[in-house]
Amino acid sequence: MSNLHRETLCVQGGYAAKNGEPRQIPIIQSTTFKYDSSDDMAKLFDLEASGYFYSRLQNPTCDNVAAKICALEGGTAAMLTSSGQAASFFSIFNICGCGDHVVCSSSIYGGTFNLFSVTLKRMGIEFTFVSPDCTEDELNAAFKDNTKAVFGETIANPALCVLDIEKFAKAAHSHGCPLIIDNTFATPINCRPIEWGADIVIHSTTKYMDGHGAAVGGCIVDSGKFDWTKYPEKFSGLCTPDDSYHGVTYTERFGLEGAFITKATAQLMRDFGAIQSPQNAFILNLGLESLHVRMKRHCENAQAVAEFLQNHPKVSWVNYCGLKGDKYYDLAQKYLPNGSCGVISFGVSGGRENAKKFMGELKIAAIETHVADAHSCCLHPASATHRQMSDEELIAAGVSPDLIRFSCGIESAEDLIADIEQALSKI
Ligand SMILES: *Cc1c(COP(=O)(O)O)cnc(C)c1O
Repeated sequence: MSNLHRETLCVQGGYAAKNGEPRQIPIIQSTTFKYDSSDDMAKLFDLEASGYFYSRLQNPTCDNVAAKICALEGGTAAMLTSSGQAASFFSIFNICGCGDHVVCSSSIYGGTFNLFSVTLKRMGIEFTFVSPDCTEDELNAAFKDNTKAVFGETIANPALCVLDIEKFAKAAHSHGCPLIIDNTFATPINCRPIEWGADIVIHSTTKYMDGHGAAVGGCIVDSGKFDWTKYPEKFSGLCTPDDSYHGVTYTERFGLEGAFITKATAQLMRDFGAIQSPQNAFILNLGLESLHVRMKRHCENAQAVAEFLQNHPKVSWVNYCGLKGDKYYDLAQKYLPNGSCGVISFGVSGGRENAKKFMGELKIAAIETHVADAHSCCLHPASATHRQMSDEELIAAGVSPDLIRFSCGIESAEDLIADIEQALSKI
């Protein structure tokens, strides 16, 4: 059956048991796979036959779970990675190298910002950061002759900006570049970036997809829509023979639908080994089976908590794109009509000191660097992830000194609100 709903794909996508086979995705806990002849093996090494030979490159459990995420996002090929960071790195490094340039939204996850602005810079890849709210002219002005990709987050962590994906896709495509979207916070339940023009979608599966704070992981999905062969010199790695695989040309052998992921597996997984373990992929799959049920609850809880905060006299401001009047309300109505995510940010009166005091008084929401799982949690970036920065630097980064990031879990909204209320009464 085709055109299955996301709810069905969450449970059954990517894997179909044949007669007498396990109903649940089996954990293939094996580093290696056996062949009858050296010739059989040689075909795998030349990418002439598909099959498994070593779990540093590919493992059947991981591939089954990747296929489910691929179906959810509406892509043509996908791979799991050991973490979201590995997925971000591979998505860029699969098409960029020393001397290349990327246009990137300035509102992205802090870890991604470090990877791009420090580590990839050391590898000779330069990034220009643009405000997600920039005009089309400002966006177009950021491109250079050596620009090879555009990157942004559907809902930025922790700034909670909603990206105008169509605006970024249009600019990327008019400059012959693919748009890469980190869809971690929205998940394919609430937004499928490929439907709005994104070419590659990545995830930190550590967050809502696993959803239980149990396993770090990542995923890359290719839409199969970007035509690399229109720019064979720009994307020479995909369009000219790979010497390390007996001269295979990825776009010729695997088509637009398979070239990007096959190259990332064959070259980057082989060389960097950032594979997800089959055990973790199994845990991730259990999370995916209830993703559609959980996302609905995360969003309902966040909406209720945001509305409560908005009306509380000790709360100075609230950011949540589900609130009417929020800066991103209109974009959220367009891209996230069924809900955005469970994460809210807000400030309490009395600033930095009261933010810390308030968080210390919470009984249900725990203080964690993590976000986006079944358990409610919160973080004060100014004393944790961003503690190196002065108050002026914090404000420039869009993280005010009083900002509390609150991740609503799937507990009772009534209990979450009562907990917040009692903690606010202590400040
Ligand atoms: C957490 C996160 C990442 C990094 O993922 P890890 O699994 O922690 O490596 C990337 N992007 C976003 C939006 C995230 O929230």
